[in-house]
Amino acid sequence: TLSMRLERVAAHVPAGARLADIGSDHAYLPVALMRRGAIEAAVAGEVALTPFHAAERSVRESDLGQRISVRLADGLAAIEAGDAITAISICGMGGERIRDILDSGKARLSGQERLILQPNGGEQPLRQWLMESGYRILCEEVLRENRFAYEIIVAERSGPVTYSAEELYFGPLQMQARSPAFLAKWQRLLRLKQQTLAYFAQARQEVPEKKVQKVAQQTQWITELL
Ligand code: SAM
Repeated sequence: TLSMRLERVAAHVPAGARLADIGSDHAYLPVALMRRGAIEAAVAGEVALTPFHAAERSVRESDLGQRISVRLADGLAAIEAGDAITAISICGMGGERIRDILDSGKARLSGQERLILQPNGGEQPLRQWLMESGYRILCEEVLRENRFAYEIIVAERSGPVTYSAEELYFGPLQMQARSPAFLAKWQRLLRLKQQTLAYFAQARQEVPEKKVQKVAQQTQWITELL
């Protein structure tokens, strides 16, 4: 069984997909989807040896070696032309890292794949990359598990798309939906930002003005949002 977090990610993988799960660790996601008959084929990519071996073991033990290829590779280098991948999941890492994986692997993207991304923080730079690369955000979720707020961002290439600075910060669809988990996340972050500003105000060493302004701007956006 999958964690609630990966279960929510799984829900965004289209039926019959050929999935590349990058940073797959134990390959839990592709194994669970394949056992359910929800996907046609999968690649589980891992850059580190220990999780790569864990993924190999999961796939072997569930007897899915014919359908799931486990590859030791950095980011999208795990994807080969013949895989005909239709969906890419990159989950459980920082948004900046996910962005870097997508950006340095751009040449391996056909533009037809659905991206299912689950960043742990760094959502803004990730959304910025999506916008600049012509990806429209189709679905967004915030969920709470083990006292952490996780986000899921689903995107597909669409041609030029524009999001405002606030939309990149909060998520364009989440701003509209205002789910309880989303509002709770930003209530908590507002308190943290206010503490940071109070600390800046008292700080003996000089805090760069740009840094203060950035946090002040974010605090204002959050206040307006709530
Ligand atoms: N995706 C799983 C999940 O969401 O539960 C595992 C998340 S685990 C915290 C992150 C994994 O990403 C680690 O196993 C790490 O080795 C892998 N990883 C980090 N950077 C990577 C990269 N550039 N290419 C492939 N895997 C990477």
